[in-house]
Amino acid sequence: MFTIDKQLFATITEYLKSAIPVESCGYLAGSGFEITAFFPVANRLNSSTAFSFELVEQFEAVRTIRAKGLELIGVVHSHPSGTAYPSQEDCKHADFSLVQLIVVPDQVPISYGLFHLADSTIAELDLNVH
Ligand SMILES: [Zn+2]
Repeated sequence: MFTIDKQLFATITEYLKSAIPVESCGYLAGSGFEITAFFPVANRLNSSTAFSFELVEQFEAVRTIRAKGLELIGVVHSHPSGTAYPSQEDCKHADFSLVQLIVVPDQVPISYGLFHLADSTIAELDLNVH
């Protein structure tokens, strides 16, 4: 089971909410199964239904994560007008070495899901927000 502090989770969801109607995204980092840091990366597609990391910010985020001695754990992105479930595009473009957190940020309570994607399989993972 992955864990994340509720304060950090709130910071992430506020960030994703502030970008509505555009999808927003970033990296999750930490240690082992514990997510302790969030690094926003601009969505270069500026789309409400898809995202792709802006390359310079992506590079900077990875460099910062390494410099802080953290592990890159996952990618987070929002579905402003969808469900907290991976889209076909998400499955096609996902980095299979990372977990994928998908958030519908304007729902109350906030809807989210943590997944591991590989080829044609979608595995839902447990995320403990504590
Ligand atoms: Zn998506």
